[in-house]
Amino acid sequence: MALIVQKYGGTSVADAKRIKNVARRVAARHKAGDKLVVVVSAMGDTTDELIELASQVSDHPEARELDVLLSTGEMVTKTLVAMALHSLDVDAVSLTGAQAGLQTDTAHGRARILAVEPARIERELERGRVVIVAGFQGISEELEVTTLGRGASDITPVALAAALKAKQCEIYTDVDGIYSADPRIVPDARRLQDISYEEMLELSSLGANVLHPRAAELGMVYDIPVIVASSFNDEPGTLIHGGVMMEQFNKVRGIASDAHVAKVTLRGVPDRPGIAAAIFEPLAEHHISVDTIVQNTSVERLTDLTFTIASSDLKQATKIVEAAAKQIGATEVLAEDNVGKVSIVGTGIQSAPGYAARMFRTLSDAGINMEMISTSEIRITCIMKATDVEKAVKALHKAFEMEKAEASELS
Ligand code: ADP
Ligand code: ASP
Ligand code: MG
Repeated sequence: MALIVQKYGGTSVADAKRIKNVARRVAARHKAGDKLVVVVSAMGDTTDELIELASQVSDHPEARELDVLLSTGEMVTKTLVAMALHSLDVDAVSLTGAQAGLQTDTAHGRARILAVEPARIERELERGRVVIVAGFQGISEELEVTTLGRGASDITPVALAAALKAKQCEIYTDVDGIYSADPRIVPDARRLQDISYEEMLELSSLGANVLHPRAAELGMVYDIPVIVASSFNDEPGTLIHGGVMMEQFNKVRGIASDAHVAKVTLRGVPDRPGIAAAIFEPLAEHHISVDTIVQNTSVERLTDLTFTIASSDLKQATKIVEAAAKQIGATEVLAEDNVGKVSIVGTGIQSAPGYAARMFRTLSDAGINMEMISTSEIRITCIMKATDVEKAVKALHKAFEMEKAEASELS
């Protein structure tokens, strides 16, 4: 008898029929003898609708109240899934994030998990019950309801799997695994049998929203096998794990893209120690993650500094950077929305010759202008106009022949 933590995403629980489908799948697994903890997202677009509703009553909804409001989305689902299981004669109990023991810090809207106290869940499992948990939420030390961030209900099951020492974590969504690129952009993208934590972490950090990057990261830290599969069929899905994948070394395994990027440029920045810290520290204090950073060589001790952030952070970041610019004596701050980024990801590709050249040649042949380039050991990222992103992904997928099966799959 294995302990499994499952998660069903928003599309998989979008209406009563789909909730009953989830309940049937859970019931079958329970009857087969597994102990199950099942994390659920809000139904369909509920979270977006709640945010919209809040914006209709207030221009600046208070973060505390917004978190309580958003947490209700997942609560509705977990209750309905428990009810659907009861009607299939399965003993089930539903818990909020707080009841499930998810303790977080106080950063409303992007809280981080500090600890998981799994005693309540363990008690329920011992009684033979299926435990349904509302994803995406926790409780702070001050007993305030918190949420973990958009798309962050993926984090809950991995955190619970770690705390409960589960055998594996299964993420069920509307696509039957991790593909070589977003199948909505590249229809002949190929499903990967498996992928390493590092590669998945890069792909999801760079825009592959099929799994939240913090879920990939937690899986890696606690060494939890994570399977991503469809809630609509029985395909095996993709295994995310830490095993060595000799066959796949030096290959482009995935392409990630994000068309919601913004670019901030500081002009006339004095070139002296401490300047970068003066700009990036206040951004970090406001939990704004900065992505690609490029600093030009200085001319007469003045330089330009450009970096990218998520579009949704642009308004707040511009205010912060303008204040910092004044302090350090930079001449100008330029903020530009409608930027996108496209990345190729694969262990070892940075050090293997040819990948960067092929990427740049492909983009230039497609008439795409690269505005910035950045690399890590396992990825190469190009910043471009948001409107060029889809064209770039399609061209790169073809250029790297990613629709073809990998050697390890041909037998
Ligand atoms: P859920 O509501 O279940 O959390 P999401 O919409 O967050 O589902 O994530 C699933 C979507 O992620 C898919 O429908 C797909 O369009 C998108 N996606 C982006 N990149 C990839 C990829 N490399 N492989 C699979 N799906 C991807
Ligand atoms: N319901 C939340 C959102 O839409 C969390 C999630 O579904 O992952 O962002
Ligand atoms: Mg998701």
